[in-house]
Amino acid sequence: MQTTTQTTETPSGFTKLGLSEVTLLALERAGFQTPSPVQTHLIPPAMLGRDCLGNAPTGTGKTAAFLVPIIEKLDDRERGVQALILVPTRELAHQIGREFETLSHGRRLRAAAIVGGESMFKQIKLLQSGCQIVIATPGRLMDLMDRNAIRLDKARFVVLDEADQMLDIGFRPAVESIMDACPTPRQTFLLSATMPREVRDLTRRYLVDPADVRLIHEDEDATIPAIRQAFVMVAPERKLELLFRLLEREQPTRAIVFCRTKHGADKVGNLLRNDGFKAEAMHGDLSQGQRNRVLAAFRSGRLTTLVATDVVGRGIDVPGISHVVNFDIPEDPEHYVHRIGRTGRMGKDGAAFTFILPDQGKLLDQIEKSISRRLDQDQVEGVPTLLRPMTAPKRGQQGRPFQGGGRGRRMAPAAPQHRRGQGLPVGSGIRRKRSNSPQRTS
Ligand code: ADP
Ligand code: MG
Repeated sequence: MQTTTQTTETPSGFTKLGLSEVTLLALERAGFQTPSPVQTHLIPPAMLGRDCLGNAPTGTGKTAAFLVPIIEKLDDRERGVQALILVPTRELAHQIGREFETLSHGRRLRAAAIVGGESMFKQIKLLQSGCQIVIATPGRLMDLMDRNAIRLDKARFVVLDEADQMLDIGFRPAVESIMDACPTPRQTFLLSATMPREVRDLTRRYLVDPADVRLIHEDEDATIPAIRQAFVMVAPERKLELLFRLLEREQPTRAIVFCRTKHGADKVGNLLRNDGFKAEAMHGDLSQGQRNRVLAAFRSGRLTTLVATDVVGRGIDVPGISHVVNFDIPEDPEHYVHRIGRTGRMGKDGAAFTFILPDQGKLLDQIEKSISRRLDQDQVEGVPTLLRPMTAPKRGQQGRPFQGGGRGRRMAPAAPQHRRGQGLPVGSGIRRKRSNSPQRTS
């Protein structure tokens, strides 16, 4: 029988979740005072050994929701791999590794991040020296399995974080072989902020009688209410100018600008940097060393603007990201939820802006339909606004109403259409005005 949790009742404090003293102390050291809703609902059934399906918004503590019960059950005398966590990106593997270090404080447990782009030799050494938990991207893990460099016969816990992506066609064959290599019975956790119905159906193949913790419901706003979300209509040749002027207006403390291609991210990153922003591009063509350095600089605040592809769209938790800008609209509505979820984490507020070209009205409609929320139309002074293409379904017309509450619900009237070519060329005049911006190196 499935248990479906449908409420977001007030969390009760970690002491009520049946955790050990050593974990309560580690949580206290981490500054975690109150469990988040997904933690309140998922930790107790997980402690009882049940499989768990966790669907909760971005930035609401899903990592600790699966790590805490696993840490409680790992045997520090056994040095083989007892828990396997599969994730889509190397950066996310390292981040979860750090959270594991924090939450396992006071225990003799060791984790290994088994990810591509880093020394396989070191990873094998680490595994040989004994690790209870492995956090891996599927490609590198498969390599090590092929070389018989890792044994999974003692793995009692398997986690698919960002589960819908792990079960997507790109990863699924590898994920299935890896899961087949883990013994049964075992305890399996699947977590994600997005859980399309097809994936939800698919999860039945991997989970036995799961606790189904569902904190986002169909037809509900799948995004965080505290994130101010807007779109800006713009002509293709004015996008860069719009970006500069938007950053000038918004003065983000820390921002991610998402681009569709690696080349685009490089180009935008260079232009921002040339204009004095502490900006760098991050995408899959950089070496892993470069990727790690860029993300570390962004975490530390040495960089304030990260220009990225979807490689940092999922899971990445950098506190203090005030703004997300979709310089290129995501083509998959699910990517929208993950991208903007880099801000507004753990109850903080944030703002997300999406640039829409005149022929991208349909993509905007799809995003709004998928999150059940209308975005506000915004305009930025000096950049001509275009009318939103009239393809949006009227409220209630397509069976599924937009129910998102708060500010995002109303659609602001479109600003009057301007002639193209009225605005300033990129950088001109804006540069001098912004010289005191906290974003800039000089
Ligand atoms: P999700 O996986 O749901 O996107 P994360 O697990 O990355 O979210 O958590 C978001 C942030 O909140 C992280 O910085 C994490 O350390 C922090 N966090 C998690 N649980 C708590 C808690 N109970 N109290 C305070 N901070 C928490
Ligand atoms: Mg996560």
